Amino acid sequence: MDELKKLIRDIPDFPKKGILFKDVTPLLGNGEGLRLTVRKLADLIAGKHVTKVVGIESRGFIFGTALAHEMGLGFVPVRKPGKLPYQTVRESYSLEYGTDAIEMHRDAVAPGERVVIVDDLLATGGTMAAAAKLVRAVGGEPLAGLVVIELKMLNGRDKLRGLDVHSLLQY
Ligand code: AMP
Repeated sequence: MDELKKLIRDIPDFPKKGILFKDVTPLLGNGEGLRLTVRKLADLIAGKHVTKVVGIESRGFIFGTALAHEMGLGFVPVRKPGKLPYQTVRESYSLEYGTDAIEMHRDAVAPGERVVIVDDLLATGGTMAAAAKLVRAVGGEPLAGLVVIELKMLNGRDKLRGLDVHSLLQY
């Protein structure tokens, strides 16, 4: 895991002052690092009979699709409002200042499907919690939330009761 941590780059004050951005592009650019990351994510859900991978825009698309491919599962994109072309369900969530929202196609997850939700990073947990609500709204069962990076002091897990949350790297 120390090897993977070396591939995460800290960018101070991005995208705005006071935020320490965890840049995963060095990890994505490293063939072994990327393969190890995807395999570790797959290990976390082995034997859980997952039927779909939901990935959150935009870095969750990268890790989520790679995981879906690794496991032979379908992938579902959860996107910012107005991006998905078919009928959607929407969930709003609060940010430090104001609110944001995400959407998913309403037929992307069938009732009873066992879903794992993937993003690159867990901060306050608002985004992951909203994605879990979208899955539940269409009758799916969110089993687990997987992230590459967890910022522990923001206590994102508190918003994710009932979801089995796993992170590969903790800060
Ligand atoms: P949150 O809803 O607060 O858990 O924020 C998680 C989402 O915001 C993820 O999609 C992350 O990609 C992004 N994010 C939040 N904080 C950071 C950070 N410090 N570095 C990189 N991405 C972040």
